[in-house]
Amino acid sequence: MLTLAIESTAHTFGASVINSKGKILSDIRDMYQTEKEGLEPRKVADHHENIGDTVILEAIKKAKIKIGDIKLISFSQGPGLPLSLVEGMKLSKEFSKKFSIPLIGVNHICAHLEIGKLMTKAKNPVFVFVSGANSQIIAHEGGKYRIFGECLSIALGNALDKFGRALGLGFPAGPKIESLAKLGKKYVELPYTVKGMDVEFSGIVTHAINLFKKGESKEDLCYSLQETMFAMLVEVTERALAHCDKNEVLLIGGVAANQRLCEMLKIMCKERKAKFYPVPVKYSGDHAAMIGWQGILEYKKRRIEKNIDIKPGWRIDQVKTVWIK
Ligand code: ATP
Repeated sequence: MLTLAIESTAHTFGASVINSKGKILSDIRDMYQTEKEGLEPRKVADHHENIGDTVILEAIKKAKIKIGDIKLISFSQGPGLPLSLVEGMKLSKEFSKKFSIPLIGVNHICAHLEIGKLMTKAKNPVFVFVSGANSQIIAHEGGKYRIFGECLSIALGNALDKFGRALGLGFPAGPKIESLAKLGKKYVELPYTVKGMDVEFSGIVTHAINLFKKGESKEDLCYSLQETMFAMLVEVTERALAHCDKNEVLLIGGVAANQRLCEMLKIMCKERKAKFYPVPVKYSGDHAAMIGWQGILEYKKRRIEKNIDIKPGWRIDQVKTVWIK
């Protein structure tokens, strides 16, 4: 079964064609980027509106299929920026109606988790999901995905981007901070805040920005920020592993591209005799292939809604994981 998938939760508009065996026939992405400023929701939505059709047609062309071969359209229903979600939903509905293809809306975070499992062959891991909008430690327990720890104030990727904005690094700042961190020579003390199973990233970023304004070196601050924030995440992940009695960790989301974070989690896993799986960098950030795979997993297992709408605040623990035995 061939599925056409559409992703538009945040900065990236993506379209992909994927089959029911998990083979990705095409995966086209167009990311809204800036030189200096951050993400402005209206501008991001305009970007998606301008390039949406072209990206979808390119995905169909690259997959070398005809529209008639597509048996399902899957799109990101949430969580995400409302204006961006609307653009993806509008195009998905248009395609579905025009070509009479069934439409399914899926949870974007579930899609990150499931493509991670597909790509790494991890079976039942503790997920470390770190992206622009989320930092969550998740595991499937008692019949659903549960969040064991998180940062509610600001996500890890967002925190890095905020610091990057203060340094004038543009968006996304995460990769640039990773490069600068490699040049850092000294550790600058920053607030380390773990509360139970939750972490807090907002105070640390403000503190780091203030130190930068006072003349602290940007390389040292990038290095110290990464070391401190990543250590907080590793601590909570280790506790989740012990609590859930699991022996696999799967790192997913855009910040999974960070090699230092991978290294720190790998060391912790080795010490606990657990397996560490980072999702391949190419599939760590937002893309539509994962939305297609999630649609395929769910399509035969649940009733398709009639009046599909966006769900900007849809948490993963509200999803019925009907595709997991
Ligand atoms: P979500 O997937 O939860 O909707 P999102 O769409 O904003 O959030 P992703 O595309 O998964 O996020 O990730 C983007 C984030 O990843 C940005 O904040 C970016 O700075 C960060 N990022 C990308 N590469 C790296 C890297 N090498 N090191 C650190 N952060 C990175």
